[in-house]
Amino acid sequence: MGYIEGLPRDQMQLLPASVDDYVSADNPARFIAAFVDELDLGELGFGRARPKATGRPGYDPADLLKLYLYGYLNRVRSSRCLAAEAGRNLEVMWLLGGLQPDFRTIADFRRVNVAAFKPLFRSFVLLCRRLDLFGRELVAVDGTRLEAVNSRRRNFTRQKLAGWITIADERIEEYLTRLDRADQAETEAEGASARAAVLTAKIARMRERRLRHSAMLAELVASGESQKSLTDPDARGMAMHPKVGVGYNAQVAVDARHKLIVEQHVTNAGSDLGLLAQTAGAARELLGVERIAAVADKGYYKGEDIAACETVGVIPYVARPERGPAIDQGYFGKDAFAYDAAQDCYTCPARKRLDPFSRSEKDGHCTIRYGNRQACRACPLKPQCTSGTARTINRWEGEAVLDRMAERLATRPDILDRRREMVEHPFGSIKQWMNQGAFLMRGLGSVNAELSLTALAYNLRRAITILGIPAMLQAMQA
Ligand code: SF4
Repeated sequence: MGYIEGLPRDQMQLLPASVDDYVSADNPARFIAAFVDELDLGELGFGRARPKATGRPGYDPADLLKLYLYGYLNRVRSSRCLAAEAGRNLEVMWLLGGLQPDFRTIADFRRVNVAAFKPLFRSFVLLCRRLDLFGRELVAVDGTRLEAVNSRRRNFTRQKLAGWITIADERIEEYLTRLDRADQAETEAEGASARAAVLTAKIARMRERRLRHSAMLAELVASGESQKSLTDPDARGMAMHPKVGVGYNAQVAVDARHKLIVEQHVTNAGSDLGLLAQTAGAARELLGVERIAAVADKGYYKGEDIAACETVGVIPYVARPERGPAIDQGYFGKDAFAYDAAQDCYTCPARKRLDPFSRSEKDGHCTIRYGNRQACRACPLKPQCTSGTARTINRWEGEAVLDRMAERLATRPDILDRRREMVEHPFGSIKQWMNQGAFLMRGLGSVNAELSLTALAYNLRRAITILGIPAMLQAMQA
């Protein structure tokens, strides 16, 4: 038995009469075409949405947008690769009517329209809402670090620069000592002048580098920034599993029903603290509900942000992180101390009452300290409680909001496990399946545009899996 055989390359054959015959009824390209044709690109912020009355005609932004959507959906993101697809891929030929824009035109379209991709992403979210793909009761908020176009070698922190300046000073000192020795030995040994020339060159190079690093450090101090990236000035060094890298922090809010992304944005903040109300609040608005529950991991546990959630119609669920010097040293955690709001006091594990005794304020954050020196002095539990003379408990002035959240969490303990399932799906898909764990563009505005396209492609793929292309096309026409 032989193998299945292909056609001889020189054989003539009858091709289908039109390119349309190559694109099946359930091909995603058909939905992309219908979706983009329905959009008002001018209203979304795309340039040249109306053709110019005079001059050489340009490409229709709708065609270039179709190309990008098709590319992001099929793991093709670079302008050169998209240009190549336009010349060899029948689906793209169908989508663009045979147009073959060059890679510069394709790249320029994305670059000049960066601000329009977020409204575009939101248009698809609104379509999904019309298609009833959102549960609109619970969203999970999480962040992931995506690499920037900036190597670690071209990222400088104040600490790194100060360290290198010290090393440069030591090296220059060492080279100067060796140069002195070479000068003294010049008449005694052959080749000493050659060694001196090498050392002089090394000193000049080291001085030049030191000067560069000093200038960068002075710039950082003057601007108040903590680090500088040379290739992409907006990128920041941040913890990226399993190592530290240079990149951005991509935030998403995912709806619980089908794990569709409702809201996304990119920031260069190294941590997720303070980003919950902003992300979940925008998701609530897009979903068009008065109130929505939002679950996030311990990295989002910040009193002011949790309080802000309540003001933007978000009911937050964030587990209290076990951190602080008492936990690090193995003493009773704050959870072991019960707060009585009516009496404004804590009851400690030895059943003693701790009363407020001092108040301090820093950056608008007011902290009240509770304690009972007398009780601690004679307490048999003291070795498990503190190494000092007495144990104190700090309470943020607005901590009632955190207590309310802890009570809510106690009634829904499963919600934290649901969070993991909800956010792992989009992040896993984006990084592994879609191979989009790194940005191609530079600058905060541009990487935000890229994430909008990536999230839109992820949502599109999910919606296709759930509903199928014919049903989505039908819904578009309804
Ligand atoms: S050391 Fe003080 S705070 Fe700790 S259990 Fe004893 S009395 Fe309570």
